[in-house]
Amino acid sequence: MRAARIFDDLSLRLDEVAVPVPGPGQVLVRIRAAGVCGTDLHILDGMIKPDPYPMTLGHEAAGVVEMAGDGSSMSSGDRVAVYNKMFCGWCKQCLAGRPNVCDTLPGQLGFNMDGGDAEYVVVPERNLVPLPDAVDFATAAVLACAGMTAVHAAKLSGLRLGQTAIVGGVGILVVQAARRTGSRVIAVADGPDKIQLALAHGAADGVVVANAEEYASLPARIRELTGGRGADVFFELVGTTESMTAGVRCLAKGGTFVSTGYTDQPLNVHPIEFILSEATLVSTVAATREDLHDALTLVASGAMSVPITGRYPLEGVQEALDALRKRGVLGRQVLDIA
Ligand SMILES: [Zn+2]
Ligand SMILES: [Zn+2]
Repeated sequence: MRAARIFDDLSLRLDEVAVPVPGPGQVLVRIRAAGVCGTDLHILDGMIKPDPYPMTLGHEAAGVVEMAGDGSSMSSGDRVAVYNKMFCGWCKQCLAGRPNVCDTLPGQLGFNMDGGDAEYVVVPERNLVPLPDAVDFATAAVLACAGMTAVHAAKLSGLRLGQTAIVGGVGILVVQAARRTGSRVIAVADGPDKIQLALAHGAADGVVVANAEEYASLPARIRELTGGRGADVFFELVGTTESMTAGVRCLAKGGTFVSTGYTDQPLNVHPIEFILSEATLVSTVAATREDLHDALTLVASGAMSVPITGRYPLEGVQEALDALRKRGVLGRQVLDIA
């Protein structure tokens, strides 16, 4: 089969490899669509290191069950989204509903094990979530990363009806998930086109923040938009020191800073900034399988949608990643794999 593989010299090449064989409890999935994500760039840059190289890239996949291993209840032809994080199902964290931080299985497709930018992938059956008929493969692939992460972050934020949330960074799915809690959403992004997209997906207001001075003045601008109060929740998706500092300072008393995005830069605020306003810091990493299920259900019901703005064949993966790196992408890009 064809697979887009990253090698130890950090080159990405389309390779011909054997179709994997599902063992007991595993399922072979024929990939129909795979999402292209900013995290893939971290792997191309060597910031996240697969062990071992080479590794098939891709952590956002949806497709059709091709063959089920012994003991699986799946049937050939079942439409599925792939939950990319391995989990045991039995450790304390898994039992508490946090398979995303499973104590025993560190594997994650497309991070440290062969992922979905290929014609097939083998995963444990418990990593598959059935696709509602109304959700197409490309949309499901994006929900298997950005969508479920947005739902997870909205849940963990504790956001409630009547509150105000700020989405800092390009997060159209976070905008929608936050909106669905009944909150007012203010989008913060580095360009007017991204603000327009956020407004079209439920944001009530938008603030363009493109440089250090604009970040420094963001808390004052947010207070203007919130009657002087500030935001109940700030979803921080950018992860630079200046974006995170601004985010903390946008909070209302009792507000919650949700740390999701990261770069190589530290969060650097004095604890008194949290203490005096009794602010909360919440961090989120990926999502649970239930969040993927909920994201699929929200899209199937029309409550959320995925703006897909670029479609490429598997051979176009490098081209898609190049476009993403140039930040020339509004919405999400997907590989269509026949
Ligand atoms: Zn992703
Ligand atoms: Zn576990």
